[in-house]
Amino acid sequence: MKQIALYGKGGIGKSTTSANLSAALSEKSLDILQIGCDPKHDSTRMLMHGQWIPTVLDLVREKGEGNITTEDVVFSGYNNIRCVEAGGPEPGVGCAGRGIIATFQLLEKLDALYGDVIVYDVLGDVVCGGFAMPMREGYAREVYLVTSGDFMALYAANNICKAIARLSKRSKPCCTLGGVICNSQNIEGELGLVSEFAEKINSELTGFIPRSQIVRVSEVNKKTVLEYAPESEQADVYRKLAEKIMNTNPDPDKKPTPLSMDELETLAQKYIKA
Ligand code: ATP
Ligand code: MG
Repeated sequence: MKQIALYGKGGIGKSTTSANLSAALSEKSLDILQIGCDPKHDSTRMLMHGQWIPTVLDLVREKGEGNITTEDVVFSGYNNIRCVEAGGPEPGVGCAGRGIIATFQLLEKLDALYGDVIVYDVLGDVVCGGFAMPMREGYAREVYLVTSGDFMALYAANNICKAIARLSKRSKPCCTLGGVICNSQNIEGELGLVSEFAEKINSELTGFIPRSQIVRVSEVNKKTVLEYAPESEQADVYRKLAEKIMNTNPDPDKKPTPLSMDELETLAQKYIKA
């Protein structure tokens, strides 16, 4: 079973990329489970045709953990992709990572963590204990950093890289860096910048996803691009990404090398110019 996690700055395109990736993987007749690990719980919405599925944390609050069945938390979406949303605490109360911890405990107990591929969609602005948990506990075996050429997006990606580097020093490594996915913002010099960033952190550019209106059109029609516009070039971009990820088997001995703030700034200055 392949377990991949997409981490990245807020709003960078993790959920869109995750859902389209899951949809592309499902076309290969693979059994896919997508787990939204963001309190916003919108990761699986396009796979569920706009439906907001109940979150694990809400159900735990309402029914109590002991009374929840697999059918309560795992929903069948596009192409039979199984969808789960971890959820989070009420705004302003408690730790946002709590939903993730509760979700993994429950899914383990229900024997629901299975499939050919599990796709985790995780927030990456703050790599606090809760959000790092999928990496720390060995669920997110392969981490993909989603970024653009925007400096703060790279800053967040570099921070996640630091977390992986720290965790990979353990005697039993729990996660590896799969690669970097550039979800384009149409920024000048973006491909060069993100490619060099990937190289400098001892990784590679797994895919370049162009900014495309069809992504937004599909979104308002409550579908992934794969479903709404299967013949489009953008759908093929996600298929190519799925293919690349399926053919990637990151070497646990290849450690990521996050950049210092100075190095990151120097790299950005090389590409981001007036
Ligand atoms: P959050 O951190 O808030 O969960 P996110 O990283 O999951 O955000 P998304 O919700 O996937 O980001 O994307 C943010 C917006 O950007 C969405 O409206 C989405 O349609 C749009 N978007 C994402 N990728 C692309 C793309 N390649 N081309 C055009 N629009 C895109
Ligand atoms: Mg999201």
